[in-house]
Amino acid sequence: MGPTDLFVSPLAWGMWRFRGDDLAAATALVETALDVGVNLLDTADIYGPDNGEPFGAAEALLGRVLARAPALRGAMVLATKGGIEMGVPYNSSADYLISACEASLRRLGVERIDLYQIHRPDSLAHPAEVAGALERLRAGGKIAEVGVSNHTSAQVAALAAHLPFKLAAIQPEFSALAIEPLYDGVLDQAMEMDLGVMAWSPLAGGRLVGDSHDGRAPAVRAALDGLARTHGASRAVIAYAWIMAHPARPIPIIGSQNPARIREAADAMAIGLSRTEWYGVLTAARGTPLP
Ligand code: NAP
Repeated sequence: MGPTDLFVSPLAWGMWRFRGDDLAAATALVETALDVGVNLLDTADIYGPDNGEPFGAAEALLGRVLARAPALRGAMVLATKGGIEMGVPYNSSADYLISACEASLRRLGVERIDLYQIHRPDSLAHPAEVAGALERLRAGGKIAEVGVSNHTSAQVAALAAHLPFKLAAIQPEFSALAIEPLYDGVLDQAMEMDLGVMAWSPLAGGRLVGDSHDGRAPAVRAALDGLARTHGASRAVIAYAWIMAHPARPIPIIGSQNPARIREAADAMAIGLSRTEWYGVLTAARGTPLP
């Protein structure tokens, strides 16, 4: 990944929707991802409340899975996030980040997080303070690498300027329905700085596979369906392949909590889209012909 020693798969699996008390089912999801070659697993301390569960619940569930099957830890690159505080909403002060990371370690039951990400930028935290906290966590062996999510390219540059080591990754929303990173400099900067790119909500939270009629969704689904027929793949697989075709090599974070769909997603690693096919989807996403 980027400038690091982390060896990551071209697809990741995400745990925003990872929930419940069924430890066998939770373990099966993790095992399915690893089994199909998806070794980068993304969670966050804030994953829980959106599922009607407490802050920290998704990390705690993964911690229970790892306690039950400790060998899984060594098979994964474990990414989590901190910096969202319930009711605040953002806090990247040094004291908070350090305590949030330590709490994540306790819930996960691991000694070190492979990729620790600032979940959202905190306008009230100077990047030097954020960098200082991340440096302390890294020097203490609590995290291996650092990433940021939902940061503008200027925010990435400001933090990188204060970090005494290389930033590893960014995590923007990017899909055929969220194409801003193509135009706002985020993907260009990732290539300039050799950052890993993790694309969140690669199916637009399900809108690319559902039947929502809002915005560009129907047109984009139709464009993806045309390619799905050509390539003999599902629409979801084409949607992942479209993201992966970009030269920044974005890693779609599979959001599904369905083992069969996680398994199917891995088919995207074998799909290559032509320039004409890729630009056809972009044209549908823009809603206007390319100049
Ligand atoms: P997504 O892939 O865009 O959407 C997943 C949703 O689509 C699930 O509810 C899934 O349901 C549904 N779905 C329906 N048909 C599907 C199919 N054929 N294949 C796959 N999914 C299908 O991803 P997401 O869950 O919104 O986000 C993915 C990950 O991105 C999260 O887990 C998290 O790690 C990360 N994320 C990060 C941020 C951030 O701010 N950094 C924000 C949001 C998400 P089933 O589970 O029933 O398959």
